[in-house]
Amino acid sequence: MSDIVTNVKTAGVVGAGGAGFPTHVKLAAKADIYIVNAAECEPMLRTDQQLAARYPELLLQGLTQAMEATGAKEGIIALKAKYQAAIKALEPLLPPQIRIEILRDIYPAGDEVITIWLTTGRRVPPGGIPLHIGVVVNNVQTLINVAKAMQGEAVTTKTLTVTGAVKSPVTVTVPIGTAMAEVLALAGGATCAQPAYIDGGPMMGKVMTDLAGPVTKTTGGLIVLPADHLLIKSKQQSVKSVLQIAKTVCEQCCYCTELCPRHIIGHELPPHLIVRCVNYNAVGNPQILRSALTCSECGVCEAYSCPVGISPMRVNMALKAEFRAQNLRYQGQLGQADPMAEHRLIPSARLVSRLNLQPWYPPDAPLQPEVYQPQQVTIPLRQHIGAPSVPVVKEGDGVTTGQLIAELPAGALGAPVHASITGIVTQVSSQAITIRKGSGSA
Ligand code: SF4
Ligand code: SF4
Repeated sequence: MSDIVTNVKTAGVVGAGGAGFPTHVKLAAKADIYIVNAAECEPMLRTDQQLAARYPELLLQGLTQAMEATGAKEGIIALKAKYQAAIKALEPLLPPQIRIEILRDIYPAGDEVITIWLTTGRRVPPGGIPLHIGVVVNNVQTLINVAKAMQGEAVTTKTLTVTGAVKSPVTVTVPIGTAMAEVLALAGGATCAQPAYIDGGPMMGKVMTDLAGPVTKTTGGLIVLPADHLLIKSKQQSVKSVLQIAKTVCEQCCYCTELCPRHIIGHELPPHLIVRCVNYNAVGNPQILRSALTCSECGVCEAYSCPVGISPMRVNMALKAEFRAQNLRYQGQLGQADPMAEHRLIPSARLVSRLNLQPWYPPDAPLQPEVYQPQQVTIPLRQHIGAPSVPVVKEGDGVTTGQLIAELPAGALGAPVHASITGIVTQVSSQAITIRKGSGSA
């Protein structure tokens, strides 16, 4: 194992923008192109673009180290033209093997399959991963964490945007395990009477029922909206009601397929046919039904394409759960891309208008330079894909920031977990470790 892979594994680095795939596994692979996904296409979030502008040296160090680990000869930083501060900060520092690729302001430019296609012309096959075509993708915060890992620093903080119906939208850095309620307070609190909360962006984020939970290595952002906002209502709709609506009103107009980002680059995935099959009690080509497994859950069909309020995405999600439980896989080939594909991606401004987010768009959400200091953190043992980490501390132990508190089980996929503040361990459960701020000695 190379030093880079070892350091990144020891520091507990996982994909900061997605499901938390352990980064050391990606770094142990061989690739020819390494892409920094700085597109940040979820319309309300302002994290990666500001981190790239504030820490260009760290980002380039992380990218260079990642390229070295994987043997990649080319590095690409995918940014939107409107991220001028980041572009200006990075441009003078670029070594010859790294270039900036300017993307249009479209959704989902930051879906990694689409980012790869837009920046290199390469297409990930359906059901495949970027490595299958010699590419690795990480977001800005992940690569900054790689650079810090090479300086011996474990992942103990998370930067996220807090925006929407809040007093002062802001982008903050907090210790992992900080309660979401405290994060909301950093933005001055909600400005609507009955607030609802989304963890992540408006398109792919999930509704949180309360703010008791902690910030994790993968928390995407905190968006506050009125509880009766259409996005909240649609995300909270039950699967039963989604399927009922699909059965009753689908007019087979095909818009969901014509605008599906995966379909237009040559994946089979035809949401209108999947909805039709499901409407006839799953009578249909099993191969087509199984293509639901390749849905990225980008939300375009649900929030933008369908004129009658159906969510093909939720239908796909229900099918995916069923197929995964049966251990079924999709096997299909890459087809022809739609010659108009690039023009079928959604301009962000139009998406914002369709989502009724204009009152809060564009959020300023400036990045605060200081790290917030909570009195207590509750750090989950599973913040990543793979096995939960195993505690190596007990109640009453004193710990210091960056100290290992839960290790990766031998031979398992995952990432270790570190104390994010200095203090006393007050609780160790099968789910999380709680630390109260203090001197660090028991
Ligand atoms: S866009 Fe809506 S109405 Fe049209 S085929 Fe798809 S699910 Fe049916
Ligand atoms: S969510 Fe809808 S538009 Fe997005 S990939 Fe899945 S089927 Fe296609």
